[in-house]
Amino acid sequence: MPTYEFLCKNCEKKFTVMTSISQRNQVECPYCSSSDLQQVFGNSFFFMGNKNKGGCQSTPPWGGFS
Ligand SMILES: [Zn+2]
Repeated sequence: MPTYEFLCKNCEKKFTVMTSISQRNQVECPYCSSSDLQQVFGNSFFFMGNKNKGGCQSTPPWGGFS
């Protein structure tokens, strides 16, 4: 089963959960039970893609996650 890393937008804690793909949208923060989570992809890639506050919608010029 794959693991996913999330950042809780509510309490700003980072945690890793082991869940199936179909259930990863139902994950809750283990610290505050919030479901307002942002998934963290890898390491610096995440920060590069979200450098501008509030603007994480644009596709990176190198073409995404493949
Ligand atoms: Zn939380």
